[in-house]
Amino acid sequence: MENCFILVYGKDNRYSANILLAAVEPKVKGFSFYLFQWDLDKLPIYDIARIGEKCKRIVIGFTFMTPQILIVKNMVELIRSRLNNAILIAGGPHATGDPLGTLTKLGFDIVVFGEGEETLAELLNAIACNDEFRICGTAFIEGDKLIIKRRARYIDLNLYAPFPYWKNRFNPIEIMRGCSSACHFCQVTYAFGKPRYRDIDNIVYYSKLMVIRGLKDVRFIAPNSLGYGSLDGIKPHADILSFLLQKLHQNIKEYGGRIFFGTFPSEARPDSVVDDIVREMRRYVSNNRVIIGVQSGSNKILRIIHRNHSVEDAITATEILNRYGFTVDVDLIFGFPFEDANDLMDTFRFIQEIKKFNTRLHLHTFIPLPGTPYSDLDTKFLDEETKKKIAKLIGLGKAYGEWCKQEDIAKLIIKLRNNGFIYSLRDIIKMSKIHIC
Ligand code: SF4
Repeated sequence: MENCFILVYGKDNRYSANILLAAVEPKVKGFSFYLFQWDLDKLPIYDIARIGEKCKRIVIGFTFMTPQILIVKNMVELIRSRLNNAILIAGGPHATGDPLGTLTKLGFDIVVFGEGEETLAELLNAIACNDEFRICGTAFIEGDKLIIKRRARYIDLNLYAPFPYWKNRFNPIEIMRGCSSACHFCQVTYAFGKPRYRDIDNIVYYSKLMVIRGLKDVRFIAPNSLGYGSLDGIKPHADILSFLLQKLHQNIKEYGGRIFFGTFPSEARPDSVVDDIVREMRRYVSNNRVIIGVQSGSNKILRIIHRNHSVEDAITATEILNRYGFTVDVDLIFGFPFEDANDLMDTFRFIQEIKKFNTRLHLHTFIPLPGTPYSDLDTKFLDEETKKKIAKLIGLGKAYGEWCKQEDIAKLIIKLRNNGFIYSLRDIIKMSKIHIC
């Protein structure tokens, strides 16, 4: 009988699932690996149970985000009712942000805390050897305490393939992980620390592999693509960035490859948009659209949420990008709890100001995410008049986005937090013991 590891994920987590599989499969002996996407057709419980019944040890890992917790809870219950010997592991931004709720309310045995690559491989090897699996990088319950064994160092992206190409599974290449900005609403810095980069040779190698296999459009994952290779991930390093784009272009052009940079899933901060770099981008990239994270048209809000850039930086960035022929998608978030009528006025003034450029607005609603300094705050939902203004922009084709759906998600998360199903940061700190390892 074999040991089995089944990784379960939703469509929105497919890149993370690939990245994890690429990291663990080559390093773990004695396991067969299976992947199941839960939102393809129907819940894959029957298939998981069928595999589980023929395994010596069955380990089931979930990678998920906060808006998905109810579906994950449902699946965990169904799996438990059919496979009582399964070890259930949770990872991803929600499990790291609220390990206490993930263990006590969602019913997982163990949480992979933070980056999964090293921890998951060591965890599976420990299980295969019948060893203690509450290893460095995990969180678990002991007595009435949450124990977090937090890794002292972050991983080196160069040690891991960006996708499990041997399984013919590809995704955008993660070229940068972590962020030094620490915006108070975002999980990236709190879960992944300061920025690190995949080396240029490594990026070129895997890009070439993709295009040779027939995937002509090469995309990248980065919290701030224009900060690639720089000291803080924000103030761009023009030489390194140009060298990356040049080398990519040289190596994939002959196979018909195209570079998509600064667009989903690698947007840019406004204060990283500078003339020299955008000129270089224009020479090498195939996208005509760049996404910039502005988040608010109020300098007061930008200061409070710790963006470290101004509304004026956003206007300058838009102008530069337009000058080189890029249309600009501007990310904006409504609903911060301290957003008042003056801030909304400032944001609509900003929208008016950038009308002269070739732009679209990508609209979001603030969601209090576990693991962030704002996890215990409430969303301030928009009044009807503001909603009408937004609807008009959408009707004119000037705006798009999931801000409405995100209002519902924010309501759900606040309700689950108020009911004690998601733990507040205060409670997590009170109930946890952290060991650095
Ligand atoms: S700059 Fe972007 S990735 Fe970095 S913390 Fe802010 S929102 Fe998150």
